[in-house]
Amino acid sequence: MGKIIDGKAIATALQERLKEQVAYFAMTVGRKPKLAVIMVGEDPASAIYVRNKIRACEAVGVTSEAYKLAESTEPAYLENLIRKLNADNSVDGILVQLPLPLGFNAKKIIPLIDPKKDVDGFSQMNIGSLLLDDKKGLYSCTPLGIMQLILSTGVDLTGKHAVVVGRSNEVGKPVALMLLQHNATVTICHSKTKDLGEFTRTADVLVVAVGQKKLIKGDMVKDGAVVIDVGINCDENGKLCGDVDFESVEPKASFITPVPGGVGPMTIAMLMANTLKAAKGNVQ
Ligand code: NAD
Repeated sequence: MGKIIDGKAIATALQERLKEQVAYFAMTVGRKPKLAVIMVGEDPASAIYVRNKIRACEAVGVTSEAYKLAESTEPAYLENLIRKLNADNSVDGILVQLPLPLGFNAKKIIPLIDPKKDVDGFSQMNIGSLLLDDKKGLYSCTPLGIMQLILSTGVDLTGKHAVVVGRSNEVGKPVALMLLQHNATVTICHSKTKDLGEFTRTADVLVVAVGQKKLIKGDMVKDGAVVIDVGINCDENGKLCGDVDFESVEPKASFITPVPGGVGPMTIAMLMANTLKAAKGNVQ
């Protein structure tokens, strides 16, 4: 039987520790860390993510400032808001909720965020820091959370074969770099990979970030593998499900994350960790 990695419990424990560290920061610095969250438009999924991020701020004692801009907002207004927040010393972290509506170019907007305040870790500078193993950088939250979940199993990654399915800039590529930092031998698979199962079957650690329900079946997984399911999809009954067919994979895995309750809660906990890290770097 596989062992379930309880992301919710691990995230809750992490948030408890962060709460103490945030309180210590506030006591020693004389103010709380502050996160500015910008959302453009009315995308319902984004609205839920933003709400959860604000709630997490409240839970750990971070001050949050939400900027809800109409879809009709001029990109120049958003750009100026980011510049204003960059210049505001009381703001430690800036997050622009993605995806942005049509008419906004995230590739142009995200690099405007001061890398020291880029708590999502999406800017070129922070991705460069990750690539160069510069620990001062802010790394992206979902991959950081995935690593915490893997490390929580006690598995030593040194020399292990880690297979990452998905090569997005937000998840696949950064988590592959982090696994490499932990001395795993890393293979990245993607939509053009031929015979995906041939690769996934050799994985000691399998991270799946695709966005296709139940793509990974039991016969594609090696006995004893650690399986991390990043995907968020709806199954045929409208229930939330991952990229991994939990039913057939769980018996083979030594450890496996559920969906929901696996990677998701960790992403927000790591956002709080990044906000505190940015705040510590922002102390004058
Ligand atoms: P994306 O769409 O940017 O990238 C998907 C990747 O999957 C691409 O690199 C593509 O090459 C690869 N892919 C597509 N079809 C494939 C196939 N048949 N075989 C192998 N690879 C294939 O997605 P993303 O932003 O990386 O997100 C992936 C999933 O993770 C989504 O379901 C998303 O909702 C979820 N997600 C969850 C969290 C969280 O906090 N839980 C955070 C980010 C993303």
